[in-house]
Parts: sequence; C-alpha cells; structure tokens
Amino acid sequence: MNSVHSLQRPYRLKTVCMFFFVFFLSTTAMITLFWGDVPSVQAGEAKSRFIYIVKKGDTLGGIALHYKVSIKALKKWSKLSGDKIYKGQRLWIKSVSPGFYIVKSGDTLSEIALQANLPISRLRDLNRISGDRIYTGQKLKLGAARVPSKRPPIHVVRKGEALWDIAKQYNLSISEIKRRNQLKTDVITPGMTFKLCETAEKETAEEVEEELFEYKVMPGDNLSTIAQRFDVAVGLLRQLNGLKKSRIYPGQTLQLRPSSLDEAVYVVRSGETLSSIALKYRMNVSEIKRINDIDGSKIVVGQELRLKATRPHIHIVERGDALWEVAQAYDMKVADIKKLNELTSDRIYPGQELQLGIKPARRFGAYTVKKGDYLGRIARLHQMSVADLKRMNHMRTALIHPGDQLKVNPLLRKGREWLKIREINWDDLMGSSEGFKKIKTGNGPYYGSRPKASLQKNRRYYESAPLSLWNTFKRARKLQAAFDRKISRMGRLSNSLKGWHIVLDPGHGGLDPGAVVANLDGNGNTVYVVEDEYVYDIALRVYVMLRLHGADVTLTLLSPNHLIRHSDPPVQTFVNEKNEVYNSLGFNKGNKRAHWPIGGRNGNLSCRVDIARKAFKNVPQNRRIFLSFHADIDHSAPNAPLILYYRNRRTGKADCASKHFAKSMQAFLGAGTTIRGQNLLVLRNNPARIRVMLELRNLAYTDHAWALRFEELRQRDAEKVVRGLVSNSRPRHH
Ligand SMILES: [Zn+2]
Repeated sequence: MNSVHSLQRPYRLKTVCMFFFVFFLSTTAMITLFWGDVPSVQAGEAKSRFIYIVKKGDTLGGIALHYKVSIKALKKWSKLSGDKIYKGQRLWIKSVSPGFYIVKSGDTLSEIALQANLPISRLRDLNRISGDRIYTGQKLKLGAARVPSKRPPIHVVRKGEALWDIAKQYNLSISEIKRRNQLKTDVITPGMTFKLCETAEKETAEEVEEELFEYKVMPGDNLSTIAQRFDVAVGLLRQLNGLKKSRIYPGQTLQLRPSSLDEAVYVVRSGETLSSIALKYRMNVSEIKRINDIDGSKIVVGQELRLKATRPHIHIVERGDALWEVAQAYDMKVADIKKLNELTSDRIYPGQELQLGIKPARRFGAYTVKKGDYLGRIARLHQMSVADLKRMNHMRTALIHPGDQLKVNPLLRKGREWLKIREINWDDLMGSSEGFKKIKTGNGPYYGSRPKASLQKNRRYYESAPLSLWNTFKRARKLQAAFDRKISRMGRLSNSLKGWHIVLDPGHGGLDPGAVVANLDGNGNTVYVVEDEYVYDIALRVYVMLRLHGADVTLTLLSPNHLIRHSDPPVQTFVNEKNEVYNSLGFNKGNKRAHWPIGGRNGNLSCRVDIARKAFKNVPQNRRIFLSFHADIDHSAPNAPLILYYRNRRTGKADCASKHFAKSMQAFLGAGTTIRGQNLLVLRNNPARIRVMLELRNLAYTDHAWALRFEELRQRDAEKVVRGLVSNSRPRHH
C-alpha cells in the first residue's frame, strides 16, 4: 500500500516568492538549504519546508531517503513529471508529518531535535522523556497539539470575510476549499456554508498501537509482575536496566523496550560515514571495521553493519526474527528458550539478547556458493558479519568459487528447510506446464513470449498484455489450473487448515503496479522493485503451502504468464507487467478495458471483495480469512512489517476479530511488527471473519527492498504467514 500521500498538506501560497528569494541568494550550489517561513500555518509546521538545490550525483531516491520523504511526495512538491533531476535544480522539501516524527532505527534524540529545529530540552518535555533513550517506531511530538482536528465541519461565511480568510483560519488552501465545495469563483457572500471536515476526519482515522517505553515503579511492583504487564521478559528488563538481581524500588524508572541504539544491525544511510556511525553508537571505528571485516573506510548506502560481535550461547534478536525461527535454527524447543529467558509470551524485540543455554547448541548450516556470489552477500543472507563467515570457514581471503561449500549461521536455514516444507519441490512447481511455451530467464520461468526484458529497466518501464482481457483471463486460468494439478499431486503438510477458506489478495496488479522503488544491488548499482510483482510471488508461495495444509484457497488476481519465480541472483528484478486479471469469469467476459484491475479511489478495488464474497459462499463465517498482500512505502513508519485491520473512520469502531488476529500474528511475522486500524476499501464490507492487509516489507528502507528481491527471503516471509495461520486455526484453550 502506498500511504504517504495522505500525510501531505498543501502549501502553494508563498512558493513563488520563496523561489525567487532563493534563486537570488544562491549563486553557487554551496548554499543548499533555506528554511521557508510561511506565516499562514501553525507553529511547528512553519519551519518544515525548504528548498534543496540538487548537487552533482544526486538522485531523487537518494534525496528522498536522506530527508525521509517519499519520491512521490518529492515529485509532487516540485511538480516533477519524470524522475530526472539536474545539478542546480531546486526541489521543495517538506516534513512528512508536521506534528510528529516516528523514530527510525539508529535515530538519536539530538539528531531529531536538530532536524526539527527544536532544542533537545523542548523535545524531551513534549514527549516526557527523561534521558536520551528513544525506541524505533516511537511517535515523537514535535509541537503542541494541532488545532485543525477540532475544526468544525461547516463554516458559515460572516460579513466581510473573504475566501482567503477562511482558508487561513482552517489551515486549508483556497483551491482545496473550492474543490470541496465545488466553487467556481473566489466570490463568496455572507451566509454561505462551506464543508471543511474531510481533513479533520483523516487525522483521527488512524489508531497507532502505542506502547510504553518507560515505567516508573510503584510500591508493591516486582520485576515479574511488570514483565507480565508489559509483555516483556524479565531477562530483557534486566538487560536494559543493567540489573544484576531482581530488586527494584518504587520511583525507579525502568526501560521496557530496547531503544533504537540497542539493535545489533545498522543499515547505512545516505551521507553517513563509518566515523559518524561509530560516534552514534559510542563505538570505535576500528571495532566496527573488525566486526564487519572492512579494510578501508568505504561503506555504501544500504549496507548492513553488525554492531555487536556474535557470542556463543546468545542470539541477539534482529528485526524480523521470530521466536519459533530462533528455536528451530538452534535446534531447541520454543518452551525451553522461553523458560531460559523468562519470556511471558512469544513476542521478542530487536536488540533483545536470548540465552541459548550453557551448552550452546550451535549448529551450522551449509551454503553452496552460486555464480555471482560474494562474501558480503552470503554473510548478509545468513545474518553474519563477513569476519564471522571467514573465521567460521578458516578463510584467509575473500575469494570464493561457485560450488564451494561454506559453513554458515544456522538461521538462514530459514530458507526452505522448516517443518516438512523442505519436502516441497518448488522446482517442479516452476517446471514446464502442460501446453505452455516456457521462457527461461534469471527471474523466471515465464510462459508465453513475455516479458521482453529480464529486469525492470527504470521506474517507468512496463509491458502490457498482448492479448485481450478475455483471452488473457482464459490463459491465466489455464496456467493456474496446471499449477493446481501439480500442487494436488504433492501430498500434504498437514490437515490443520481443513475446512478453512482463505482468500489471498495480491495487492495492486493489472494496470496498477503499486510502488516502484529504486533500490541498490550488492555493488551499489540501482535496481527497481515493483510492488505488485513481488507480492504476487509471495501470495503464490503462501497459496501453495496453505493448500498443502488442507485449506481451500482463492486468489483474487491471476497472471497469464508466470507462477512462482526464481530471482537468482537478485539483481534480476521483476518487470512491471500490466497483465494480471481478476480471477472471475464475470469481470472478464465483457472484455472491457475498465475491468483490468486498477487501484485508487476511482479504481475497481471492490471487485476483490466481490470475488471473496463468491468464494466464501457456503463457508461457515468463522472459517473465512481474507489476506491482502502489500509492500509498504512509508518513510514515517518503522522498517518492519505492518498488519492493518479495518477501523471505521467516522465511528472509530474497530473490527475486533481481525485486530485480535493481527496481534497474534505479531509473534510469527517477527520482531518489530506493528499493527494499526485503518479505513481500507478491500477490508470494508468484506464478508471474511478475519480480514487484514499485510504490509510485509517497507520499501522505504533499503534492506527491506533488498529482502523482497531475494527469493529465499520472500519464501521466508511466506512461511511466516503460513505458520501464523496454522497456529491461529488451532482451537484455543482458555
Ligand atoms: Zn500496496
């Protein structure tokens, strides 16, 4: 889903003046920033817009990343139609969410204060923080509560009032008021009424699950009651607060969650150097270099650096790790890890140190070097540092050859060997399908004659379907039927989902690619990730496993030319193909262009709900699940999966069954997963009992875009979803 657009507010008013002002002053590219001061907006928002002058080598993606805004927003603010920018060009930058800032991994309070142009003491006061500790995903207030949310829905024009006055009063642009009220001129008369409420509703629509970060000990509290209450392990409480024993005293402030500086892995951002990162984490440059086996001082944006050396007996939880995965990797029982670490639930947090016992059951995985591999990539895939990898394999140099066997961390056996899932022959599913011409490519296989390209060449590139809607649909059905026949010959993983009907909705597709995001390959070259293509691949993987667990499964969309795809090496990105069709005879037989899937307010997203309604016919209500798959691109959200359930914008009423389900999925999707209620079209009026949207990755972050491109990590995401569903289908004991 692309949720950035809803956060921007209009500015326009003084744009022209500012532009000339800056143009006049900035004779060289040395002067890059100007804080605009626009008097018509609220305090706190006034200093959130400025002009950036493009430097040599800048890209839109790089600038967006640096200022934590979306490329889409950047383009909108500066009215750019394409992606090309040139040296000296002036771009408008606005802070995305004026009143708030969501803490990202590696952020520090002082950096945020600097960026928001606030004294650090003010930032502390506003957010009732005593020290410098903040945590990833924390929502920080940057100003006093905003007035507009108390805005009355209707304004009656008073004598002497001009449209300008009303716009100013409600912090809206004139054109916005005109649009909302279908006003053609600027002339208004006393007594006229204007609708102004659209934005006010939007601001209360989202309910973020807020979690306490600190707690002041009350008389009668003890560590285990606090642990229970805040769903945090006693061991983690000790780790975070440097407690040797269990003694605490009333009035003591306890940190409840690891802060953004406690994480074990750091993803390099634009403009950072080894020394700036070392400074932030209070480490020595040499220490970081040693752990990561870096010779010089060169690091690239998106590179993952380990900040803590791996220790035997201990696993440091990383973003995306789930407890059951850790258990599996170290050949332990979940219950044993829970007992060892005094865990009260299955939730774990990034940065949390898990004891694995006195005798560490350190197993090694085996990895066969593939063509085009390099040590950094293999290390990254297995959540290791290059130094660890070299040490583990007694290597002197970084030289490897295809076919070499390497010992690796067991976690990345995560790939395919869980459960009996290892017995699924994925290659057979990708093998030739009856009557279809197969094209072999690095990112295939494909059937037919498309795509023509083996990777997404640029943001705008796409290939459309060569056939009519009706013929494309027939082809897609035939291909899917061949796939289904193969699945039905594969046996079963279990019968645990027997009787359940699950509708899988791959986000976007058809004419709507969703987010197309620039990302980097392992060599720092730009590659493009197309949201709909990737979520379709994950949805198909989930489809296979759910069927093998005995569920009935329906896909809302079908592709006419591919099934599950390989993408090895991951520089072979999927091409934006505008060829998926709705999986419904009714929507296609009319052969109308308007029936190609299309997103947005004026799209046909409701077709997805219709397909679900038909699929659920004769299925008991409590056996219906609807899952919509997306990859988010939201720079103001944490780099973690997000689960969305339906929440009515007007009444604030949430779909409780789905909310409950979302909470239970947190433990399966991994550390850092957040959940939120939102008014979403595909969930509204949806006849499923459980209906959620899964933003499996956040493409605003380089490491997530990377993970989406990597086949084994897509598989890992798919398995997490399936694992969660299987666990949820079990009867509960109260
Ligand atoms: Zn999406």
